[in-house]
Amino acid sequence: MPELPEVEVVRAGLERHVVGARIRAVEVLHPRPVRRDPGGPEGFAAALTGRRIDGARRRGKYLWLPLDDGSALLAHLGMSGQMLVQPPGAAAERHLRVRLLLDGAAEGRHVHFVDQRMFGGLSVSVGGAELPPEIAHIARDPLDPGFDDDLFVARVRRRTSGVKRLLLDQGLVSGVGNIYADESLWRAHLHGERGGDRLTTRQVRDLLTHVREVMSEALAQGGTSFDALYVNVNGESGYFDRALHAYGQEGRPWARCGTPIRRVAFMNRSSFFCPRCQPVPRRRRTSGAVPRTMPPD
Ligand SMILES: [Zn+2]
Repeated sequence: MPELPEVEVVRAGLERHVVGARIRAVEVLHPRPVRRDPGGPEGFAAALTGRRIDGARRRGKYLWLPLDDGSALLAHLGMSGQMLVQPPGAAAERHLRVRLLLDGAAEGRHVHFVDQRMFGGLSVSVGGAELPPEIAHIARDPLDPGFDDDLFVARVRRRTSGVKRLLLDQGLVSGVGNIYADESLWRAHLHGERGGDRLTTRQVRDLLTHVREVMSEALAQGGTSFDALYVNVNGESGYFDRALHAYGQEGRPWARCGTPIRRVAFMNRSSFFCPRCQPVPRRRRTSGAVPRTMPPD
């Protein structure tokens, strides 16, 4: 599943290659990726045809292309989506779902939305050029200059949920997926089940710093691979895997303490952590209500 750094790489690539272009034609080859568009495949295509692309923006893992009529093309890559910028005459990929033909600045290039599993999708957001209303509830991501650190710290420390669950809560902070959450927690020496209210201000700030570092490192590597060509960006984060200390490293001991990484089930997925550097938190005492001894009859 693409995480924020991969999506940012896609955004940067689109910004470089399609801004200023006009959409000459739209081909919807499979209806599923445009299922969220109220206009259906025909309405989707009609709303985009002739529009100029004025930018490429992102909120968390959502991308949008602001258009010259104040609307936007909103995209989510889901589990396996790709947005590829292809030269004129490029062959269709096996799982090509939607194709935009561009004129003007893009010189006949195409944007291909390729998605094998089709959990992702595209839709036209009416009036969504500045910020699509469909995603207005999603918090900014930690790399966004508008991210409010103090607000994040305060909100985390008010919650009793485990800190990993909080990192994955899109209303608190967006764009932190399972892989980067595990890596950041490992670096911060924190177990994911530690309650937000059991963390100090300093610990939450420190964690945020690690989240930013992990994402920036991934971004730097993804950015390099993008420059190689036209194209880019895919659903895999394989290029960053070698730099990970926690995620997917089960049984592997790291120089930091020599203890093998452990894997546990987490929300239908897995969590990876070092049982020594990231001690399992003690169980929360049940508050009041339960009498220690049964009252006499
Ligand atoms: Zn360790």
